[in-house]
Amino acid sequence: MAHIVLHKNHLYHNLGLLSKKAGGIEKIFAVLKDNAYGHGLELIAKEINKAGAIRVIVRDLEEALKIQHYFKEILVLSEKPQNFKPISKIIFAINSIEALKNVPKNTTIALKVDTGMHRNGIKIDDIYSACKIIKEKLLDFHSIFTHFRSADELGSEYFWQKRNFQEVKLIYNNIKNTYLMRDVFFHSSNSAALLRCNEIEDDFARVGIAMYGYNTLPKGFHKEILKPVMELFGEKMSQRVLHVNQKIGYGGAYTAKKDMIVSFYDIGYGDGVLRFNGTGQLKTTNGCLILGKTSMDGMSIESCADKISIFNDLTSWSQYFNTIPYEFLVNLSSKIKREFV
Ligand SMILES: *Cc1c(COP(=O)(O)O)cnc(C)c1O
Repeated sequence: MAHIVLHKNHLYHNLGLLSKKAGGIEKIFAVLKDNAYGHGLELIAKEINKAGAIRVIVRDLEEALKIQHYFKEILVLSEKPQNFKPISKIIFAINSIEALKNVPKNTTIALKVDTGMHRNGIKIDDIYSACKIIKEKLLDFHSIFTHFRSADELGSEYFWQKRNFQEVKLIYNNIKNTYLMRDVFFHSSNSAALLRCNEIEDDFARVGIAMYGYNTLPKGFHKEILKPVMELFGEKMSQRVLHVNQKIGYGGAYTAKKDMIVSFYDIGYGDGVLRFNGTGQLKTTNGCLILGKTSMDGMSIESCADKISIFNDLTSWSQYFNTIPYEFLVNLSSKIKREFV
């Protein structure tokens, strides 16, 4: 059966490097949203718990409840709490004043402030009214955070947003006393922001893609070596000789230039692997050509191996598909069996 191998030593390598940059593993908010970027939520949760991680980020409450017993704090990014009996370690990200007004009393919240991405979060000027609501509703105020739109690009935009976030901190620390608010945590850096700096100025960094082994900074930055955690394998279903001038697969998109041994492996776009349409060249980990169009449940490859590593690093694959490793990873079906080695 097609399956995913998760390389434990790579995960530890990445976590070690990132923890060192952040100033300790307790300063890392490990991002496990969307099935841990396709790696398997519970598997990754269990392993990073062993490594000492205490804070994680998930997409919704369903994900949070599955892994809550491993961690001290779980931040839910994209779900509005409704009919929810507050659990203090489950923190809800609040993205607007409207949402803040609707949060059940006593809920633990992290307030998102828009410092320039203009996607989500309250305006900087609305911090005052937010504080009033938080106070009135007896909310458990965990943190204030923001998100960078250009941390992985050369240029000054990252610094502009960072300065805006410094202003947010100043504003909060000034009004804190007036409103009798407590001290809260601050966090802003994603993987790229952490990787481009040598330390963080906040309490935590929220680290996703780098933990899974991808350094998304472009050329021009000093790039730390990270190691991709995921490797995808296919199993041989059948083998044949493709004779010269014979075509293979749907539409006969590949024509043999010589007699060659080819096999059909049990992994296709039905498993969430982006569909190769036969144009150009796409190769497996060991350089074997993928032949013709990918089918729903399989693909033909120039190989006779019983088991084949499809990829162990998505850098060239995501370039081929004109996308980013994130998209490739989260598309992989949760039905594929995953295990650590
Ligand atoms: C997904 C996400 C992250 C992690 O981003 P990476 O680039 O994968 O490190 C951090 N913060 C927020 C708000 C996110 O949505």
